Amino acid sequence: MDIQFLGTGDAFGSGGRFNTCFHVRDSVGAFLVDCGASSMIAIRKFGVDPNAIRAILITHLHGDHFGGLPFFILDAQLFSRRTAPLVIAGPPGLRDRLATAMENFFPGSTKVQQRFVLDVHELEPRRTHDVAGIAVTPFVVKHACGAPPFALRLGVDDKTLCYSGDTEWVDGLREAAHGVDLFIAETYFFDKPIKFHLDFATLARHLPDLGAKRVVLTHMSPDMLARAAATGFEIADDGVVISV
Ligand SMILES: [Zn+2]
Repeated sequence: MDIQFLGTGDAFGSGGRFNTCFHVRDSVGAFLVDCGASSMIAIRKFGVDPNAIRAILITHLHGDHFGGLPFFILDAQLFSRRTAPLVIAGPPGLRDRLATAMENFFPGSTKVQQRFVLDVHELEPRRTHDVAGIAVTPFVVKHACGAPPFALRLGVDDKTLCYSGDTEWVDGLREAAHGVDLFIAETYFFDKPIKFHLDFATLARHLPDLGAKRVVLTHMSPDMLARAAATGFEIADDGVVISV
């Protein structure tokens, strides 16, 4: 699979980076992991065809991770003229929070009948779900966002990928990332442990137990961005494509 990082920033645009959004290409087609508020801009900037995206997987219900969905859905209806079904899958509460976000941003938009089938799934943790051909296993992590936040373990073709979402260190991450081909990990600060977020020092302490084959750091604050190169780890950046 190929992964293009469309957005690798935090909620506040640190480093001029877009909100979280990863574009994954597999043998079936393409899907997104998270769709933060700025994701339609990133999709246009990097020349991604939104109609070729069959599914959008959401880790948690913060604007910088799911706030791009109203824009994506409206673009699909009004400009991209989508006809193919779209599956959106994420934590319990996704259906209501998505409807509220759409009504807040574009009143009346939830009353419009789409020209494509829009399927919103709320995923049960610790179960493997087949979402449009992707094996999705969510693990509950620790991040206050009004609904259960997930780390996602994905089976894509014959590879495994884990994205931590936003979270402080929890044991669930050990299972979510165990032995994966690629672990994309939030690294908000360098060594300052703060509630609900992961710092590099804590992550580095746990990495030997995980056995992840490749680790890429993302979602960095200005503090972490300034010290990222010194870690010697791979750093996600907007627009970069990696193959796994
Ligand atoms: Zn968050």
